[in-house]
Amino acid sequence: MTAPDELLRLDRAHVWHPYGPMPGRSEPFVVSEAAGAVLTLADGRELIDGMSSWWSAIHGYRHPVLDEAVRDQLGRMSHVMFGGLTHEPAVTLARTLVELTPDGLEHVFLCDSGSVSVEVAVKMALQYQRGAGRPERQRLATWRGGYHGDTWHPMSVTDPDGGMHALWTGVLPRQVFAPPPPGGFGSPIEGSYADSLVRMVEEHADELAAVIVEPVVQGAGGMRFHNPGYLRILREITARHGILLIFDEIATGFGRTGAFFAADHAGVAPDVMCVGKALTGGYLTLAAALCTTEVARAISDGEGGGLAHGPTFMGNPLACAVANASIALLRSQDWSGRVHGLEKGLTAALEPLSGFAGVREVRVLGGIGVVQLDRPVDMRKATDAAAREGVWLRPFRDLIYTMPPYVSTDAQIARIGRGIAAAVAAQA
Ligand code: PMP
Repeated sequence: MTAPDELLRLDRAHVWHPYGPMPGRSEPFVVSEAAGAVLTLADGRELIDGMSSWWSAIHGYRHPVLDEAVRDQLGRMSHVMFGGLTHEPAVTLARTLVELTPDGLEHVFLCDSGSVSVEVAVKMALQYQRGAGRPERQRLATWRGGYHGDTWHPMSVTDPDGGMHALWTGVLPRQVFAPPPPGGFGSPIEGSYADSLVRMVEEHADELAAVIVEPVVQGAGGMRFHNPGYLRILREITARHGILLIFDEIATGFGRTGAFFAADHAGVAPDVMCVGKALTGGYLTLAAALCTTEVARAISDGEGGGLAHGPTFMGNPLACAVANASIALLRSQDWSGRVHGLEKGLTAALEPLSGFAGVREVRVLGGIGVVQLDRPVDMRKATDAAAREGVWLRPFRDLIYTMPPYVSTDAQIARIGRGIAAAVAAQA
């Protein structure tokens, strides 16, 4: 085993971390183990994972059921190509996803990451429009404040003005944007905003292939929640103009918002839907884009005769096997009761912070708790202050937020609250 100091030295010499500058200019903690909701650092410190490894580790780490699913699959095969071959883990997963997702989504394209599943969803939309005799429809529309991943099309539907990928504005395809949805989850529908969504679609109907949004929760674009009713408005107006509706449920799927999928809050079925992150309980990288038969048929009967995508690691059996185990585990439990328990615990822990100096707003939905400050967070100070309380957080912009593993105990949620309070206090 390499000593922690040496690991850190080598990391600083060679390893690039997400969104970071070149190696050596960021200072990660060295993590040596993870079990349940707890990360153990190489220096022996234990941190409750307030981030669920970016929404994914819903069952926590080293869950015996998920560990066994991987071991069992390893004993059969770890990977085979998916072109011309199929296998039980992938078929079972596709069938389960069709059963669980909103009505009409019948066909599953397995991808290797969330961003790729959004690329695939966009390809589906463009190929669908070509197949339907409308090849000029190549643009996407969305609302501002969204986030859909780090590859090309996902970046193009992130806010071009000040969004995460504003660096590429002018280079990326030019998409169509409405303002971000106003209010919160429980706020009433604002008629003038609803009208602006309708206008956006109507004005660009002849050039739009699809509208793509994160339903109910905008994640990395600002951790904002909105009234699910806006999704019904988008459904109605897109259907009227033959424009596809794509839901990106990569962060929201598998119970996180209190519904199995966020679309369920609205009772709306999109034409294409992306899932990822918690799909494998955070064990392995896997995502999927699902679509309706109408979409699949137009693609298959159109030019090329198929969807123009086929990654080497498509349908990886280990990832599919652990996804099947994770979904089965979730469904065997009172996941809804647990997520509502998280909502209660996070509300009790975070609501008092709304009185803290520098706090603009506290909001909680399902297993997501957000503290928005009135200025950008000093990430190093926030992370260190939370770590001193035994909590792992990864704030960004003006947001200190958490989405803990569903297995977190009430005491662990209370501790996450103390970690966030310390991170806020450290900004003073
Ligand atoms: N869409 C949403 C809503 C996301 O939160 C993310 C991940 N942050 C992605 C897409 C991209 O997924 P991945 O990081 O697996 O490529």
